[in-house]
Amino acid sequence: MMINLISMGSDIGNISINAFNAIIESDIIVNYDDIDLSDLDTYLKDKEIIANDLEEAKSVEDESNDEIVSDLDESESVEDERDIYSKLEESYSKIELAISKSSNGNVALICSNNSNIYGIANLLIQISSKYNDVELKIYPAISPIDYSSAVLGAPFNDLVAIDLNNPLLSIRELRNKVKFALKTNFVIFIHNPIGENGDKTNFNKLKEIVAKFNDELLVGIVNENYSYEISQFKDLNEEIIKEDSYLVIGNKLTYKLEDYMITSSDYFVKPKFISHNIDFFERYLNDETPKGLDQECPYLPCHETLEACDFCYCPFYPCADGITGGEWIKDKNVWSCQHCDWIHLEEPCKVVRKGLKRKLKDKDDLKTKHLELLKLRRECLLKTLK
Ligand code: SF4
Repeated sequence: MMINLISMGSDIGNISINAFNAIIESDIIVNYDDIDLSDLDTYLKDKEIIANDLEEAKSVEDESNDEIVSDLDESESVEDERDIYSKLEESYSKIELAISKSSNGNVALICSNNSNIYGIANLLIQISSKYNDVELKIYPAISPIDYSSAVLGAPFNDLVAIDLNNPLLSIRELRNKVKFALKTNFVIFIHNPIGENGDKTNFNKLKEIVAKFNDELLVGIVNENYSYEISQFKDLNEEIIKEDSYLVIGNKLTYKLEDYMITSSDYFVKPKFISHNIDFFERYLNDETPKGLDQECPYLPCHETLEACDFCYCPFYPCADGITGGEWIKDKNVWSCQHCDWIHLEEPCKVVRKGLKRKLKDKDDLKTKHLELLKLRRECLLKTLK
């Protein structure tokens, strides 16, 4: 018979249709996380439901898991370790119970939203490999990563996920992972920010590493019921971080747009051109445009922070990416660069000029190589943003 591992998602309303059908087609329900299933009462009435009672699970485990139990007995009697072992023991018991029940019919092993990432899918596969004839099917739910992303807006592009309180994670491994992720510009998803009994050892280490790298990175704290807070890392509101919170640490390309945390991605709009842009770049290619501040210009100062007028017209227009301050003018379908100072600072100007030597050979390249130019922009942003 089949064991259907079903993740319920952040709430029961987010369950997939496939998962729902698998519950209906199962004969036995093992409620792994004691989730409130009352919304499904109509569909569950003819089924054997096992929940809130570990006695049966324990007896199954006692028969089949002697090895683990004897290990537990011999373990050091350190309080934290005991907690971890007792949780593990509970998980083993429930999974063994589901496996033993599957000889009587199809089982739906229902768990909360974390079965596939940091969840019991791993354990279920490993334990079931002890037996012949155990068939598994795993029904995914909205993962904590998807949930956090939806709550915050769109913070993820390339990302790494770290379980900060995996009991097997050493401080050295934690440090290496976080440093690597920061250096290589990944957005970081943190699961389990606080450990058992409020242990903040790893959290404090994380804070130390991120603060040293760049305390201006954006961070989102995501809690239950779509509640969240976004701030710079240096203003992180520790008070609201709980054991089951999720943290999302943005990268250099992450910014706040209205109430959302978003990271520049591969979204771009078809370029529109005005003749001034084309004329400007024709002169640029002939080396006839200004370098540095153009003191003669009647429009000076046209930007709040202005160090160089090299790109009075921007080769990336319209980048449609607010990380540098550009924005849509509401209801006009026009991209405004009024608040983008980045392209008018000396360092980015230098880096963009150098890159354009490779990419821009003719003024019409502005129209035909927009994607290439946006790639160059990203490269220049990564080199010049803090
Ligand atoms: S927002 Fe900045 S980088 Fe983007 S098109 Fe405008 S000037 Fe160029």
